[in-house]
Amino acid sequence: MKQVGIVRCNDYQYINVEKAVYECLDSLHGLKDKIKPGSKALVKVNLLKKNNPEDAVTTHPTVAEAIVRYLQERGCEVTIGDSPGGPYTQWMLRGIYKATGMVQVAERTKCNLNYDVSVSEVYNAQGKMLKKMQIIKVAEDVDFIVSAAKLKTHAMMTYTGAVKNLFGIIPGITKADYHFKMNDVDNFAAHLVDICEYAKPLFSVIDGVEGMEGDGPSAGEKRHVGIIMASEDPYALDYSALRLIGINPRKVPIMIEAEKRGLFYCNDQNVRYTCLKPSDLNIKPFKLPRSLEINFIGGKVPGFFERWALNNLRPRPIFDYDACISCGICKESCPPKVIDMESGKPSVDLNKCIRCFCCHELCPQKAVGIKKHWIYERLFK
Ligand code: SF4
Ligand code: SF4
Repeated sequence: MKQVGIVRCNDYQYINVEKAVYECLDSLHGLKDKIKPGSKALVKVNLLKKNNPEDAVTTHPTVAEAIVRYLQERGCEVTIGDSPGGPYTQWMLRGIYKATGMVQVAERTKCNLNYDVSVSEVYNAQGKMLKKMQIIKVAEDVDFIVSAAKLKTHAMMTYTGAVKNLFGIIPGITKADYHFKMNDVDNFAAHLVDICEYAKPLFSVIDGVEGMEGDGPSAGEKRHVGIIMASEDPYALDYSALRLIGINPRKVPIMIEAEKRGLFYCNDQNVRYTCLKPSDLNIKPFKLPRSLEINFIGGKVPGFFERWALNNLRPRPIFDYDACISCGICKESCPPKVIDMESGKPSVDLNKCIRCFCCHELCPQKAVGIKKHWIYERLFK
């Protein structure tokens, strides 16, 4: 049975966050013995792009700070790091660490901030799809990784938490290549599980004080949940988070893949809640991303129509040219390279678009929306 700690935390005042993070981690029996003094740890935060902590897109700096201090008190040398969206360069990291509050965390705790942008090629013995992969070197240089994730919906993968956060050990633009090769959600989920099995986080923490619902992971709506949760098992933690936010774990590709591999079976009987249970919190279900509502029509319409709808009514990216500042980030981050900048504004070849929604995820202006087909709107709304 996997242990999961869920603790209430109503705001980001450091004293409250530290109390909640420590309570969660202390409740996981046996964890402390696995944190060896003198070991090197990477706290892999979710720093998708240059957002302020209040935007609820990135792991909040107070949560990162509490995890860093917890590890430092047990004698670890701690580095904070991530490979956010876009190119993996020192210049990009500098800007993102500053905006997301990580520079201040490093100043206060004296932990390291990773600026080494070198890459290692590693062999992934457990990999089903990815036997060889490129990862950020800092992930190889440490004794263990901690996945410090954010509680959010995700336009392509339904949800992002402890497992999906580890996609950020794949360096910058290589992520776009991987997305392109894994353009089907089930295939992508299998790759994400491979990456998680390679990273094998010692433990994972989810920052759910302020989460994101709807069109996550960056253009959704901020949603106050008021919890912090942790587990040694990233699948059990994601399962519990999904239960908490009212999304059926068996509809989430990463959980389906984890079940297929026997890594975690989606059932409450496989979890021991060491603090609160999801049912104690009575959270109103999260809104799903518009891109995915069509995946959740199972059973409501005849099977032949569902197959046709899934093939033909797929939501697509749409650009708001008034909000667009012509930065070209969507073009750079599009895995199959199907965005062109025409007169300084993006346009997409929809026949070749793989609906990964990286453009939506990384646009700094929220100028990439998700448009559903009118037939879908009429029939299902
Ligand atoms: S849509 Fe967004 S990412 Fe693309 S060019 Fe405009 S502002 Fe930049
Ligand atoms: S246009 Fe957007 S959704 Fe389509 S493939 Fe490119 S990044 Fe992905």
